Order: sequence, then structure tokens, then C-alpha cells
Amino acid sequence: MPEVSETVSRLLAGRAASGFVGSELLIASHFHHRHSIAPPTSRTEAPRLAERCRSHYRDPVPAPIDPARLLADLVAHDSTSNRSNLPLAEHLAGVLEDAGATVDLGYSSASGKVNLVARIGPDVDSDSGLVLSGHMDTVPAEEPDWNSNPFTLTDGGDRWFGRGSCDMKGFLALAAAAVGRHASVELTAPLCLLFTYDEEVGCLGAAAFCDSWPQDRHLPRSVVVGEPTEMKVVRMHKGHLRARVVLRGVSAHSGYPHRGRSAIEPAASILTALRELREELESERPGNHEFFPEVPYVALNVGRIRGGSAINVIPDSCVIDVGLRLLPGMEVADCMPRVTRAVEAVSDPDTTEIELVHESPPLLLDDRASIHSSLCGLIGQTETHSVSYGSDAGTFDRLGLECALFGPGSIEVAHRPNEFLPKDEFQRADEILDTLIHQFCVEGRA
Ligand SMILES: [Zn+2]
Repeated sequence: MPEVSETVSRLLAGRAASGFVGSELLIASHFHHRHSIAPPTSRTEAPRLAERCRSHYRDPVPAPIDPARLLADLVAHDSTSNRSNLPLAEHLAGVLEDAGATVDLGYSSASGKVNLVARIGPDVDSDSGLVLSGHMDTVPAEEPDWNSNPFTLTDGGDRWFGRGSCDMKGFLALAAAAVGRHASVELTAPLCLLFTYDEEVGCLGAAAFCDSWPQDRHLPRSVVVGEPTEMKVVRMHKGHLRARVVLRGVSAHSGYPHRGRSAIEPAASILTALRELREELESERPGNHEFFPEVPYVALNVGRIRGGSAINVIPDSCVIDVGLRLLPGMEVADCMPRVTRAVEAVSDPDTTEIELVHESPPLLLDDRASIHSSLCGLIGQTETHSVSYGSDAGTFDRLGLECALFGPGSIEVAHRPNEFLPKDEFQRADEILDTLIHQFCVEGRA
């Protein structure tokens, strides 16, 4: 039925002016006419029917996605965490829809940012298949030491320079290209992309995704989070707990100190108490410490103090921000009460507040999880690798997902001027992802 497949291809290729759901409706209705399948009765049913239609016609879809070219496009979109990632996400959505994927942009009105979920392959009544996940935001690129424009992917021979090249737009480009390559392949299980916002400022997009994902909707359990691990498979990382101590005083002219009360002075004993807690934590060895030989304990950092407004004013407020790096297997309840006790022991409860600001959970993936054993098998890794930075993977654990970190590039050069991505790792990661997708979405390894 060439005329049918042509129509379908055309519909899939063109994004209807009325939006994607509109074109889905058209495709699904078309399919109904040719195959006596009930027409879509609602807008939500249309994508499902269109999916059936799509899996029926494995027609060639538009030109393949060139990952290197896409990477250049992604780097050119400044998606520093303090900006909206909407332009970048819409660009990706267009590329993926043109390639034949179903794309959802989960909009957060609070932040003006979006998560992107894309999908190809059949609807299955299980959690089989594979998710490729990465964050769309980057850290700022304001360092004066950049040798090239950080938002222009620059060819440096064996590497590409650019902000986000390794952390982690390189992986996003590989994942999108892999979807494009498999859109016309008969899959037995879905291949999904899950791209988040605001990972760099506390995995906020991942948390919003977990909060809003419907419990009854299937998502493949196995996830690759493409952080730059230098092509190692990582199954553990620490978490980050952020606490805040707020001290209240009474402001006054410093010439009349008896009329005010300093909020800064009492902070001194709190800092001492926090230093003692830091030393105590450093002497402890919680579970899984052996996987973090460099820092085998909970690291506590008093990262920021803000207080006062001028030298001649008694300060009425002082805020102390404290970060703690929890080990895999630990929970907030293991640490936060100790911070609270340490602060309360030396402060006035009427003028001091302690709050938990945010938590990015640690990652602890079982080494027998199929995503771990498959990836390790592909690269010949036998040992456990851990990293001391956080990622969305710890948060995805809330949905019962099994996440392994694996990606090209090094965290050593991320978050720095002249961030780069080695081309050979980019190429190698492309091949490994291809084999992995075959295992999980064609052979149906769960
Ligand atoms: Zn990252």
C-alpha cells in the first residue's frame, strides 16, 4: 500500500500547524479507514492509535540525525540553568518528531522550563525497554579563560570544545540520533528519552518529572544517565542535602547598639558547632564508604554566609547554608537531625530557624541490575565504579527506575573553561548505545 505509507510518512515528517496532537489525529483516522480499527474518540487516544499505525508502517523516515551536527546546535542554545531551556527543548522536540518519535514537553509554570520525554516503539504492558536520560541545562560559562566562544562547538582536532559538550549535550545528541536510527526498526520494547531541566541546581526537573509521572503509565525500568563518566559504568554516587540556618536580629544604628540585637554574632558559635560536626562525620565510616576511597565519609561544607547590610547598621539577619554529601544507602533522616541538634545546642530557639532546603538523593544500583550487567559486559568492566558528584539518577530511584551512569567525556573538564568532548569517546559511545538498544528494545532483554 505505497500510497498509504507515503501519506503516513508525510504526516509524520511534517509537524501540522495545529500541533502534534492534531497530526496524530489525522494519522490515526487515516489508519482507521484502511484497517477498520476504531477511530480515535479523544485527543488522548489519538497518539496511541498513531503509534499502532507507526509500528505497522516501518517506512523510511526523514534523513538520519547527524549527532555531531545536532551537538553543535545544542551547544549553540545557551541553556545555562538560570535561563529557560524552552528554545533548546523545542529544537530537540522538532528534530525528534521529524524523526518519527512521540514527544511530550512537560511544562513547569513555576520555573518556565520543560522536561522532554520522547518515545518510539510499541506500547507494552511491562517496564521492558530502555530509557536514555540526560539534563538539558549547563553551568554558566562566564570564566574569562575560554579560548573560544563557549556557545560555538569548536573543532580542536581530536576533541570538540564548548559549554555542555561533555556535560552533557554530547550524550543528548547521541541519544536523539539513536532514536532517529531506530524509528524505522521493528522494536519489541520502547526506547524512550528523558531529558530534564535544572539538574545542575539540584535535580529539580527530575523531581518534577517524578512528581507528575502517572503511576499507571509504563516507563522502561532500565535507564542510562549519560553523565560524563569517561566511558565507565557507574552505579553509585553520593547525594547532596542542603540545610539552611536563619538567624534573626533587630537592626539599629550602630551608634546606638542597645536599640538592636546582632544576628551575626550568634552565628559564630553555630559555625563552631558545625565544624565539630564536620570533624565527627569525617571520623565515621558509613556503609559503602569503601567505594569512595578519596572521601569515605559524609562531607559537610558551610558553603555560604550572608548577613548584614552596612558597617554602621546592627545586622538583623544572617543566613548560613550548609551542604552534606550523603553516601549511597543513607537518607536525610540519617543526617538532618544531627545538624539540627548541633545548631540547637548553641542557639536561641526564638531567633534561630533550621530548615531542610533541598535533597538530591544518592544513587545505589544493584550490581546485578540488567542495565549494569549489560553495560559492563559491553565495555568489559568487572569492578564497581562510583563518583562523588550527584545526578538525576538518585531522584529517578523514587519511580523504581534502575539507573546506571555512562557517558563520554570527563567530569574533570566539565564545569570549567574550555570544557571538551573527545571525539573517539563520542564515536565509541554511539556504538555501545546502539548495541544496548538492540539488547533491550529488539531482543527484549529486561
Ligand atoms: Zn551533568
